Amino acid sequence: MKKLSFITETFTESVIREMTRICDAIGGINLSQGFPDFDTPEELKALAIEAIRSGRNQYPVTFGEPILRGRIAEKMHRFNRVECDPATDITVCCGATEAMLSTLKAIINPGDEVIIFEPFYENYGPDAILSGAKPRYVPLTPPDWSYDQEQLNSAFNNHTKAIILNTPNNPTGKVFSREELEGIALLCLKWDVFAVTDEIYEHILYDGSEHISLASIDGMSDRTITINSASKTYSATGWRVGWAVAVRPITERIRKVHDFVTVGAPTPLQHAAAEALRFPDEYYRSLADRYQEARNLFLAGLTGCGFQPYEPKGSYYVMADTKAARERLGAGNDVDFTRLLVNKTGVAAVPGSAFYSDPAVGLNQARFAFCKKPETLRKALQLLKDAALLGND
Ligand code: PLP
Repeated sequence: MKKLSFITETFTESVIREMTRICDAIGGINLSQGFPDFDTPEELKALAIEAIRSGRNQYPVTFGEPILRGRIAEKMHRFNRVECDPATDITVCCGATEAMLSTLKAIINPGDEVIIFEPFYENYGPDAILSGAKPRYVPLTPPDWSYDQEQLNSAFNNHTKAIILNTPNNPTGKVFSREELEGIALLCLKWDVFAVTDEIYEHILYDGSEHISLASIDGMSDRTITINSASKTYSATGWRVGWAVAVRPITERIRKVHDFVTVGAPTPLQHAAAEALRFPDEYYRSLADRYQEARNLFLAGLTGCGFQPYEPKGSYYVMADTKAARERLGAGNDVDFTRLLVNKTGVAAVPGSAFYSDPAVGLNQARFAFCKKPETLRKALQLLKDAALLGND
């Protein structure tokens, strides 16, 4: 057989999916992958069924059904202080996942550099490589996941094409402040760099944190591509409806890539998502309340189980220091630790190294997803406690 692609040869299987597989095989509790174990709102399911019944089953308009693009523009105005034209500035994609890849493919030339904060959402590295970009990482440091301004300044250079920003952040739960965003904007303007912002956790915020869209900061609207999706806000990760918002010349390119890669996101689900985008404020408040309760419950419990969690301010993940528990289990590294953990306790987490360019940095970290019912979280905490990782057995 001839050699397969050199690019994909370097990709490893997603550790998150590996953990999910092990967890499913032993019937454990999956706190590794970020999807809810409660169902999509009934109203939304009814809308999807109705869309299928009413015959919305053929190819959509490739860059998004007009009704959905209209609602996305409305929502950007309502929540993000970003004005966009649904006719020219929006591309509906198969989830934020495709929106990110289609965007990078649209703006990157081989050899361009892309700045990525780390720890990062695990798709960004492969996305950058698939689009021919060289990732340049800037560390976020616990406990508050702040970055060193000098390090960020020196990551920008004449080869920098874009910075990828994820706020609220997976895996850290960091919510970038206005001051930080203004600083990033100044650097983007100085170096003539695009910003690609992944804002899919925009409504999942704790302790009064505020989500600010980078595109709303002065000077950024025509150089920012804002990515979002129905997955997390409407607890519908399987629907695969996401979007990218950017000014017309950028959108024209994104649409070209998108058209060839996927043609379009599922037609009936686009129509259902369009209605969801008009949900009243109360929907978003109760979503945030639900996750605030889950975060408080899980954070308090995790501390008593031999982990030192870093308090998230948004998204539905918590990174925890696992050094004591890892040493107690005699695991040589974080990957072995999470494998041992799932086998011993039935609770699956993601090894820290999955989120770093240098695996050594994640040696003593693991990420837990707490987008689960309270009873699931209580059960997981009990299993972790029973394993006596603190050494109290
Ligand atoms: N971006 C981030 C930061 C995520 O955490 C995830 C999923 O966990 C995605 C994108 C994937 O989004 P989608 O389901 O819309 O493709």
